Amino acid sequence: MNTTFDSQVREMAASMGFMEPVYVTQPNLPPLEEVVSILRPAWDRRWITNDGELHARLEAELARLLETPHLDLFCNGTVALMTALRALDLEAGSVITTPFTFPATINVLYWSGLRPVFCDIQRDTYNLDSSLLEGHITHETRAILPVHVYGTPCDTDRIETIAARHNLPVIYDAAHAFGVRRQGRSILSYGDISMLSFHATKVFTTAEGGALATNNAALHSRLRRLKNFGITGEETVAEPGINGKMNELQAALGLAQLGGLNADREKRRRLDGIYRHQLQNEPGLSLLDKPRDVEPNYAYFPIRVQEALFGMDRNTLYETLKAFNIRCRKYFYPLCSSHPWCSAEAGALPHAENAANEVLCLPMYGQLPETWAQKIGTIIKSLGCLARA
Ligand SMILES: *Cc1c(COP(=O)(O)O)cnc(C)c1O
Repeated sequence: MNTTFDSQVREMAASMGFMEPVYVTQPNLPPLEEVVSILRPAWDRRWITNDGELHARLEAELARLLETPHLDLFCNGTVALMTALRALDLEAGSVITTPFTFPATINVLYWSGLRPVFCDIQRDTYNLDSSLLEGHITHETRAILPVHVYGTPCDTDRIETIAARHNLPVIYDAAHAFGVRRQGRSILSYGDISMLSFHATKVFTTAEGGALATNNAALHSRLRRLKNFGITGEETVAEPGINGKMNELQAALGLAQLGGLNADREKRRRLDGIYRHQLQNEPGLSLLDKPRDVEPNYAYFPIRVQEALFGMDRNTLYETLKAFNIRCRKYFYPLCSSHPWCSAEAGALPHAENAANEVLCLPMYGQLPETWAQKIGTIIKSLGCLARA
């Protein structure tokens, strides 16, 4: 970019930039007094973790809300995923997964004595390309770990048909997919186990937290035992479990948030509409399609930037937006397969590599004022015009 461009950007930023940073997300926090009043009985009883009353209530409420027969709360999504791998007794070998995800999806494999085998993604959905899946299955394969990226459901039917043919379990990383339904059915009803994350950046949060959902009652009991050190009685430890428990402070925050979830989703839906209206016809930008049969959660707003048509590349847009105090995120760059401990060949994952270089997630959270989303859209369009001029 040349100096005229830079000075024009500076001028624009001085008049249109935000006074304070606009983050990619902020947690949807209930009034603190509500959290305190829910927490108070636990506090007075001096029972703040280990199967507390609030924990039991949140587990029941979430199982009902998310339409899953069995749900187990965890201290975070990463430990939940590790526990899921353990509960399936996966022996040393490999797990087929996607490189276009948050590092936790891959890291847990290494912590479980497993290796990732990366399958490329579909260009449009950013999810694992099920047409390539079977080609990756070998005698070493122990499981399939797809991610519902940005909350878009994976091609579950095809994935599970292939998994069944090879007798492999399927664990979904559903960290982005809280509350997503397809064809009137909860996204958590697919596969052997699904993992949710309740981290502060997710649509439902307990600060740190997570859950596992399963349709299988035996697996559910095993998960319960594994997350509590493997303890089955005061003097019996049945197997080497871990500490994956959610505490009562986290559960209180979760309970206090439940009432506001519909309103939050409605606000996100409106913001999603504003961004789409602003950006859908912009040259060189493509937006994530909303499949017709899916009830989305509007967790993220990724845009894809094609330099040749938009006039600048994703990295330049990302940096330039910082001058306006707009803090987007490059979810997911770098690709998990590019970490030195993963041995993927460069060029072998063309769609994932393109996505990692072209996708930018715009600010998206319920409390984001609609006027701000309007302005962010206008700024991005103006920058495109400037870059193409
Ligand atoms: C957030 C996230 C995780 C990790 O969840 P934590 O609760 O932060 O441990 C795993 N996978 C994906 C895709 C995520 O976005």
